[in-house]
Amino acid sequence: MAKKKPLTDKKLLEYWGWAVKERAGHKCEYPECDVKYTQLHPHHFYSRRIVPIRYNLDAGICLCPHHHTFGPYAAHLDPDFKDIIIASGVRTEEWLEDLVRQKNVITKNTAAFKLECYEKMKMYL
Ligand SMILES: [Zn+2]
Repeated sequence: MAKKKPLTDKKLLEYWGWAVKERAGHKCEYPECDVKYTQLHPHHFYSRRIVPIRYNLDAGICLCPHHHTFGPYAAHLDPDFKDIIIASGVRTEEWLEDLVRQKNVITKNTAAFKLECYEKMKMYL
């Protein structure tokens, strides 16, 4: 029997990106975005270096390049980005509290952890 390939970080981040976009219906989630970009970016609300939420869909949002990196309100430029996302109802205060709680749980990036993360996102793949 062929040996099953292990889930690499690279592959799992790729899946995460696909899942974030699929969950969003392949549209920019920024409130009232009308920028017509065909390209969409999966954005991590916190650095993807943070293992416990690296592959967590709660930590992601689908954005057009304008709202991801280029525009004045882009996630990577606007320190109030999360506040705007909450104030506009795209996400909730509870979502952020839960994400921060998950972010602070000490987690090792083991094969079992990666598989668990994969299981949670596979419905969007
Ligand atoms: Zn946008």
